[in-house]
Amino acid sequence: MSEILVFGHKSPDTDSIMSSLVMADLEKKLGNDSAIACRLGEINKETAYALNYFKVEAPKYIEKIDEGTKVILVDHNEFSQSVNGIENAKIIKVIDHHRICGFQTSEPLFYMAEPVGCTSTILFEICITNNIEITPTMAGLMLSAIISDTLLLKSPTTTIKDIKAVEELSKIANINYNVYGLDMLKAGTDLSDYSAEELLNIDAKIVDMNGNKVKIAQVNTVDIQEVLKSQTNLENAINQKIAEENLDLFVLAITDIVNSNSEVLVLGKRTDIVEKSFNVNLENNRAFLPGIVSRKKQMLPIMQENA
Ligand code: MN
Ligand code: MN
Repeated sequence: MSEILVFGHKSPDTDSIMSSLVMADLEKKLGNDSAIACRLGEINKETAYALNYFKVEAPKYIEKIDEGTKVILVDHNEFSQSVNGIENAKIIKVIDHHRICGFQTSEPLFYMAEPVGCTSTILFEICITNNIEITPTMAGLMLSAIISDTLLLKSPTTTIKDIKAVEELSKIANINYNVYGLDMLKAGTDLSDYSAEELLNIDAKIVDMNGNKVKIAQVNTVDIQEVLKSQTNLENAINQKIAEENLDLFVLAITDIVNSNSEVLVLGKRTDIVEKSFNVNLENNRAFLPGIVSRKKQMLPIMQENA
């Protein structure tokens, strides 16, 4: 049987990594021995903390795939966020919780999408529906993904299904999710040894907004001002990205995970999209956005409207 590569998006977050590990394991349990969990980028510190905690190896790094490779996409569907060569892959499954955009295949596939807070919440449901036993380790991985995507169930993307999944999974993993979750999120906020360019790559997504090429990067922190100490370096790195990737707009969202606010650093020709969307005037290329923590739910849709 030819191998099936399972992976999440570029600049992988905890959901993309954990969901590829869990999905590859699920495929094996469903009789597909050739599923291999993969990743499209570096493991961030938050994910590293969780993998280390549950003593699980990171998925295998891949840069591109050959024509006709069988793949399963988790936590994304947009080709711009996927592996190089995705256009010529054979996509057999997608498990995702994002908008569907520009997605097309030549053959039928299994596609499961739900508007829940995390891909791992959908995987948890698949386990329950198929009577697949969840090991404490697998529970820990899914739990970590849901905590990450929902910022410990505080993000407005959180649904009742995510809450139920976290409660069940923390029982199986035998973990106090509030204690573990805060430790894991905090591990991801240590940005001290990232260069400005690396910081922009931790969690960045390119989206098309009405013909404008927009990149939105997000970092979690417990101290927004600490991150902005290096504003000049960040701006230089952002301007370089704008030139290299021909972007119309770059937004860096610096999100305070304790107080649930964000400050955005915004550069490019279409900074007006941000000003209009959030009804703010950028000062020193920045604006404070109270209560905004979710790029997917609170930033992308409104920006799309104003682009
Ligand atoms: Mn993700
Ligand atoms: Mn996700």
